[in-house]
Amino acid sequence: MRFEEFPLDIRSRLMPAHAGRMVYRCLGCGGCFGIDQLLYVCPECRQVLLIEDEQSSRLRETPGELWRRIFDFRRMLNLPALKGIYRYHEFIGPAIPLDAVVYLGEGHTPLVAANRPLRDRAGMDIYFKNDGQNPSASFKDRGMASALSAINAMIRRGVIDEVLAVCASTGDTSAAAALYGAYLAPRIKSAVLLPHGKVTPQQLSQPLGSGAAVFEIPGVFDDCMKVVETLSDEYPVALLNSKNAWRILGQESYSYEIAQELEYDVSRVVVVVPIGNAGNITALMSGFLKFYEAGIIRALPKILGVQSEHADPVYRYYLEPDAAKRRFVPVTVKPSVAQAAMIGNPVSMPRVVHLVERYNESAGRQQVFFAAVCEQEIMDWQLAANRNGHIACTHGGECLAGLVAARRRGLFGPEEAAILDSTAHALKFSIFQEMYFTNTFPPAYGIEPRPELMNRPSLVRPADLERLPAPGAPLQGEAFDRFVRRTAEEIAARLDLKKRPPGAGPSSG
Ligand SMILES: *Cc1c(COP(=O)(O)O)cnc(C)c1O
Ligand SMILES: [Zn+2]
Repeated sequence: MRFEEFPLDIRSRLMPAHAGRMVYRCLGCGGCFGIDQLLYVCPECRQVLLIEDEQSSRLRETPGELWRRIFDFRRMLNLPALKGIYRYHEFIGPAIPLDAVVYLGEGHTPLVAANRPLRDRAGMDIYFKNDGQNPSASFKDRGMASALSAINAMIRRGVIDEVLAVCASTGDTSAAAALYGAYLAPRIKSAVLLPHGKVTPQQLSQPLGSGAAVFEIPGVFDDCMKVVETLSDEYPVALLNSKNAWRILGQESYSYEIAQELEYDVSRVVVVVPIGNAGNITALMSGFLKFYEAGIIRALPKILGVQSEHADPVYRYYLEPDAAKRRFVPVTVKPSVAQAAMIGNPVSMPRVVHLVERYNESAGRQQVFFAAVCEQEIMDWQLAANRNGHIACTHGGECLAGLVAARRRGLFGPEEAAILDSTAHALKFSIFQEMYFTNTFPPAYGIEPRPELMNRPSLVRPADLERLPAPGAPLQGEAFDRFVRRTAEEIAARLDLKKRPPGAGPSSG
């Protein structure tokens, strides 16, 4: 829609004003630092940071009703900078000028309602929000769009010149970082560190294809993370892990989109996310809190964070009901099909602790919950979802498994609706489906395929055919006709099809 066609009262707000005073805020000592530098931990106490807008109270001067109209009208505005996560510019990056925004098509991923059979099995309404439909096929693009827009703004202001961006990754962070970095070539070069043998071939192909320097490190993600932290402490590199608070800001868009998709009524909603390094659940809580405080939503939705029993330090922490007695203990991870969440010592844990408390306090009751599920449940539910028309990755399966487990504990009722985060595209993790279908899971996963969920291709090669077509050597004439007829007959026999009576026309469909 053309600018002149928007209602008068909306026009002045369609284009966000460059405003706000964004600062890094330390979660340890409360210290506050300017954003004209790349900071990952507090220079004073080494704690993790969050980015705050010191003038966020001005957001409350706009009534919630008007915010809702602004965002709804922005949907119709054809301005690339506001087509992705920055539709919510005032909340995600008021200090980022629009001409610095990097937009590669991220965000506004579809919310897909489950069909009746799957809803019946889950015992409540469920939707998948398919974050695998982002440019690099995972939700990490949301945070990367934010981090790279911030770096781009610094380059444009002349604060920095050339950037070497680094990250450690369970696969998807590196794919997203390399993609967004490549878009800003030659100013930005990327290096990614991956745990050797612990990312899927599809994930490995992504940073390679984007031209990043790819380093494989022995051990697991937590080991890579330590190396990257040392690099960012001692060398002039830009850290793109979710330790980088800009990543969290961008990932808040996930909550804003849910609010907007549901006409800003999230009062009977449970949002389910997997937890790995805990950046995503941090962003989820922070995002909903901001919309709540600005009067855009009138209630905070419930949140369920799910972990695999093979990497469940956050779940274990919250097993202790008495907050004063809780103690965080990192775990040693075991192999998990929710491989992108196979993290024993989540970097964002202090953020989670801080925000869970604020979230429950604002809601006036416990509103954030945790569940742990076994590997078998993750695979079985992923496959069940996808057999009902979804494209859930293993982490999407983990969400569904966690929801079902939480339903059994009576945490949610049938009148509520769950939104499950399929954090990546199923294709990224197809090797686990392959292991399931061929019954070749290494014992450490503890997964026994259920025959009714297995599926294999079958080769059709009628035994009585002497000649077969081959690439570059097609059959002709009688031999070809015979091949086609015999193959069709063989397929019909395997599918148990009955031949149509002669003379009857083709059936409908
Ligand atoms: C990164 C990632 C996670 C874990 O998210 P955190 O923010 O690290 O908790 C889950 N699923 C997928 C597909 C991911 O890429
Ligand atoms: Zn500090």
